[in-house]
Amino acid sequence: MSRQPNREREPEPRGGGEAGVLYVVATPIGNLKDITLRALEVLKGVDLVIAEDTRRSRILFERYGIGTPFGPSLYEGVERERVDALIRLLKGGKRLALVSDAGTPLIQDPGYRLVRRAIEEGIKVVPVPGPSALLAALVASGLPTDRFVFDGVPPKKPGRRRAYFESLKDEERTVVLYESPHRILKTLETLCEVMPQREICLARELTKRHEEFLRGTAEEVLRQLKARPSVKGEFVLLIRGAS
Ligand code: SAM
Repeated sequence: MSRQPNREREPEPRGGGEAGVLYVVATPIGNLKDITLRALEVLKGVDLVIAEDTRRSRILFERYGIGTPFGPSLYEGVERERVDALIRLLKGGKRLALVSDAGTPLIQDPGYRLVRRAIEEGIKVVPVPGPSALLAALVASGLPTDRFVFDGVPPKKPGRRRAYFESLKDEERTVVLYESPHRILKTLETLCEVMPQREICLARELTKRHEEFLRGTAEEVLRQLKARPSVKGEFVLLIRGAS
């Protein structure tokens, strides 16, 4: 049996003149115990952490005694203008860890432009895998997992949303979508107009105290949600592919 390469004690303390490294580090999506040992080691060992919102990351850092300073934040809208400065830090030999507010950076979160530029500039990019709402929802949904597509967030405008679900009617793979608590009812209503009998799963508050999975046809799940006094929490919507 071949031995796995031992990447423990990463990142190593180093002398000067070495190339920087960009670590892309997944963090919990609710339950702080879901951090990996390797993520903790990397977050403690790098020179700077690039967060989406330092206030959110500080909760995790305080819980695990991570004292690494934060570099410039990378949130929606500033990524384009901050990439150059971050690339300069990496080229100057800094080891940076990119984290988002929750889950895996770049998955419906900032970081794509930075990773792309880092690769173009010959900088090493190292993933530190861990939680992501899309996979957690998928594996407990009961829907086929052999072929699936993650399609981000459905369009916000009613006309475009309807056209979007129409375009999914013949999709054979399981479709995984993120949706906010403010729009989930409207999104389900549109889905019901287009495919009322399609089997779906609505995963709510994954890894948190009120985690739940609503399963059934689109109509049944909408009815369950509408019966509640309020709709709160974070949602992943999964739609069974056309069979
Ligand atoms: N990067 C994250 C990931 O890897 O899952 C996703 C970030 S995206 C800005 C936030 C969306 O992810 C939420 O609106 C929700 O759809 C989904 N999400 C994040 N955490 C969740 C949770 N604990 N339960 C259900 N959905 C969640």
